[in-house]
Amino acid sequence: MELGKYSFGVGDRFNRQGEAQLSALIMATAEGVEVTPVWNKSNREHNIVHSEPEGTRIEADNAVKNQGWEGPYFVDADHINLSNVDRFIEYCNFFTLDVAMYIGNESPDANVAAFKASCASLGDKVVIPGIEEPIVITDTLLEEVAGKYLAAIKEAGKIYQYIEEIKGKGNFVTEVSMDEVETPQTPVDIFFILKMIADEKIPAQTIAPKFTGRFNKGVDYVGDVEQFAREFEQDVLVIDYAVKQFGLPADLKLSVHSGSDKFTIYPIMAEIIKKHDKGIHVKTAGTTWLEEVIGLAISGDEGLVVAKEIYTKALARKEELCAPYADVIDIDDSKLPSAEEVESWPGEKFGNTLRHIPGHPDYNPNFRQLIHVGYKVAAEMGERYTGLLEKYADVVGACVEENIYERHLKRLFDL
Ligand SMILES: [Zn+2]
Repeated sequence: MELGKYSFGVGDRFNRQGEAQLSALIMATAEGVEVTPVWNKSNREHNIVHSEPEGTRIEADNAVKNQGWEGPYFVDADHINLSNVDRFIEYCNFFTLDVAMYIGNESPDANVAAFKASCASLGDKVVIPGIEEPIVITDTLLEEVAGKYLAAIKEAGKIYQYIEEIKGKGNFVTEVSMDEVETPQTPVDIFFILKMIADEKIPAQTIAPKFTGRFNKGVDYVGDVEQFAREFEQDVLVIDYAVKQFGLPADLKLSVHSGSDKFTIYPIMAEIIKKHDKGIHVKTAGTTWLEEVIGLAISGDEGLVVAKEIYTKALARKEELCAPYADVIDIDDSKLPSAEEVESWPGEKFGNTLRHIPGHPDYNPNFRQLIHVGYKVAAEMGERYTGLLEKYADVVGACVEENIYERHLKRLFDL
């Protein structure tokens, strides 16, 4: 299944913004850059919202039909494993095999021995075009990478086989993800991970490593930008080499689980993929949900009341809401406005505080991160919330579209 050179993953907590999201991608196509839409929603999100993957499938199909989109599109079972994949099987055609939790698990001696034996063909060093330092193959290095990644990739192999038996070979896109960990994977790690993926016969089309730096939800990149750029370029070169050497799918590309809004590194990524003529998949988190709250706030009246209530409740339940996202948010409590203060705000002020416009005097990334994890509060409001999304659909949809096109696609694809 062809994913296309460029693809963009949009999350949508409440399954209402598919059309607005797609219309942003249609705008990019009109500018000459075709970007395949992928609707991703993780098991964690489904559990928190009490939704099912069928809803995402219906949303995607309807958006595509109503907007007359003729290109490929995908529904991504995001961050799944053997324990929860069944829920997604019927409705998805893109599977993100999350094996982060198996990193560092011990492998049977026979597996390690087989891996080491299969690496004999690499010789004593590997020179990757474009990368100065060769990878010097030693017994110690092989044992080290096997200790870190072999069990994880074996698990990915099991999940892949399970899905393939049900869906049939070639009927879905496979991504292998290891991004939700603390320690980044180096380009050398990626080289061996790809070797293992090839050995497991997983036809991966995207791979999502943990890059250096912090990828917090809904806010900009925090980290060493130069180091990111160097590693990102090396990752691209390693993939290119691995595709040829190990027989992986020719369209294999990096998947950046951006957590959304990594505006600082978007242009860097854009330049590198352009330089090497490579594709990319960028998976965003649920910032569409934030645009819904912005849309409600600037609509005023009941919309603003509900937006404020979401903040007030999220503030009171901060610990509970942040817990599932502990590794991917950094909120400075001292910079969170009080509920009383927010109560006095007009809709514009609320919108400007939440909307991610770098350098805007009202923009507050702490406020934004808290609302980001606050979708559980809106889910609990049920129809009171979704009814307002219907009522203010035009304003909300315009916010969603503008966010994806103006702030994401323009920066990523140099539009
Ligand atoms: Zn991820």
